[in-house]
Amino acid sequence: MAMRVLVIEDEQKMADLIKRGLEEEGMEVETVYDGETGLEAGKDGKHDLIILDLGLPGRDGLDISRELRSTGVKTPILILTAQDSTEMKVRGLDSGADDYLTKPFAFAEMLARIRALQRRTLSEDSTKLQIGDLSLNLINRRVNRANVEVQLTGKEFALLEFFMRHPDEILSRETLSEKVWEETFDTLTNVIDVYINYLRNKIDRQFEPKLIHTVRGVGYMFKTPTADSRLLAETKAS
Ligand code: CA
Repeated sequence: MAMRVLVIEDEQKMADLIKRGLEEEGMEVETVYDGETGLEAGKDGKHDLIILDLGLPGRDGLDISRELRSTGVKTPILILTAQDSTEMKVRGLDSGADDYLTKPFAFAEMLARIRALQRRTLSEDSTKLQIGDLSLNLINRRVNRANVEVQLTGKEFALLEFFMRHPDEILSRETLSEKVWEETFDTLTNVIDVYINYLRNKIDRQFEPKLIHTVRGVGYMFKTPTADSRLLAETKAS
């Protein structure tokens, strides 16, 4: 299916140029020349990407981006800005946009950024979390490590899902008890450690590299395997 793109840009020449270019790439493009109409068009959520100019009559781009996000529209937004200032880029991204392009831009760069956004959405969209050789299917609740199916209990699954949604972050026992168990344990109980142990036995013990790491005195970290650690694991395995 063709990718549907909404272009919100008040300079008609620019908007039409983008439209023609993207249509040549096989995309379906809708152009809108003012902020208010752009916001309405974006809200119906039928597009796969929104290309959004910042300086617009009616509503400006930052406003549109914020409002779309606050109403739950998750369509990726690529901001176009003439202002090559770090501040504007930061404000654009903070408003909920996913990427930005400074005018004037090379069309090839726009296409590359669109492809990158598309890849990101596809992987986020899926019903599967995948880190290294570990995958967790959120629909059928199957977990595989290195193509070996692993059986987890409900709590272990919830714990692993939370880890995989927060890779490379230090997670304290307090955070885990709040987010996974939705209650706060007495600091003397070792429920978390016990469950981490169960999980390690199932997803880490007979595999390399190890994914769950203890951060002494703080908590745990689920580490994304680096190229180095994968290489090390291959060396050990051979
Ligand atoms: Ca403009």
